Amino acid sequence: MKKAKVSIVKVADYNSEEIHTALKRNLSLLGDLEKIIKPRSKVFVKINHLSPPSSPDDAIVTHPSFTREVLLLLLELNIDITVGDDIQSKEKDGFLLSGYRRICNDLGVPLVNLKERGFREINCKGQILKKVLISPFIHEAEYILNLPKLKTHSLTALTGAVKNMFGIIPYGLRLDYHRLYKGNDVFSQMLVDIFSCAPPHLTIMDAIVGMQGEGPSGGNPKRVGLIIASQDSVAVDAVASRIVGFNPMNIFTTQNAHERGLGIGKIEKIEIAGEDISGVEVRNFKHSAVAAGFIKRKIPSFLHGFVQSQLTLAPRIVMNKCTLCVECVNICPKGAARFDGDSVWIDRGRCIHCMCCHEVCRFQAIKLGQRPLGRIFRGVSESFRKAKSLFI
Ligand code: SF4
Ligand code: SF4
Repeated sequence: MKKAKVSIVKVADYNSEEIHTALKRNLSLLGDLEKIIKPRSKVFVKINHLSPPSSPDDAIVTHPSFTREVLLLLLELNIDITVGDDIQSKEKDGFLLSGYRRICNDLGVPLVNLKERGFREINCKGQILKKVLISPFIHEAEYILNLPKLKTHSLTALTGAVKNMFGIIPYGLRLDYHRLYKGNDVFSQMLVDIFSCAPPHLTIMDAIVGMQGEGPSGGNPKRVGLIIASQDSVAVDAVASRIVGFNPMNIFTTQNAHERGLGIGKIEKIEIAGEDISGVEVRNFKHSAVAAGFIKRKIPSFLHGFVQSQLTLAPRIVMNKCTLCVECVNICPKGAARFDGDSVWIDRGRCIHCMCCHEVCRFQAIKLGQRPLGRIFRGVSESFRKAKSLFI
């Protein structure tokens, strides 16, 4: 397998000039933008924009100031740009609060909700999926530019470049897949299947302020201070996850994509340009509780079922924070999140632990809990991580 090249450049904050300078350096380290994306071509820019509207300060969406600077570089090459994601929103324009509508209007760049034009079925040579519905915006683009945000995830441990492509399929299908492909490993396999149907030509990750803890929406913003770029999305995820303290090959999407030859997930096979990883590591970056599940790889298989039962995260409603918006009820693929007229509650017998409710709740009114032994496992694995021991 040939080496991938990843550029890492420091950026202090979302100041336009700093981002512009950093992006130029990222791209020159990779060999310049026009050598990767042809001038005057048709490019789809896939942002990470979750459905419940949120402010960029919450670190849930790819920051619009970052995206704006990327778009300016594309416009210099006379590129025909469309920016978008597939979002569900009760608001008339789900892109308003994040600032995306404003920046795209200012630059005269089309911003689309992928559901606007429906989805087309295509063949998929995946491990699980043989057909998949993807947006024609993706299908018709000559190049896909992937702009993920560095965030943790309470189901897959990391939301990055590979997982960002989950947004190119319809919302309803995403819910179905949550229901059908339970478990981190099989869910990640499905994510890689979708990624394999539309592998991006260039990935530039907004790792200026990431999200730690229970991402992709219920964690806390954490300054990482970097832009990470590559033509290899899997390598971007590998480098980003290493910087925030994961063993990249513990991230199922990275491992699975690497093993399928869709990119490079092993750090030793990646050529790093710009900053050294060792100089930019964020040692106190909080992982999701789900990361404690990596402990399973170090113990005999007959114990896996027991350990998993202790580690599984279960959602719980925090009544005094719940606004009864019922977003969680609407998104739950198993009807386990329920509204009885006075309150929202979780039917534990039905819950499949997909974390969709947690992802969609913008009021941090859903907490994720583990059994007592699970919390102990988590404490042990965190201690090992801090000591840079066998889990890293
Ligand atoms: S838990 Fe969150 S998403 Fe569910 S109803 Fe309450 S505020 Fe809304
Ligand atoms: S309650 Fe939440 S975690 Fe459980 S199945 Fe419904 S959406 Fe998924």
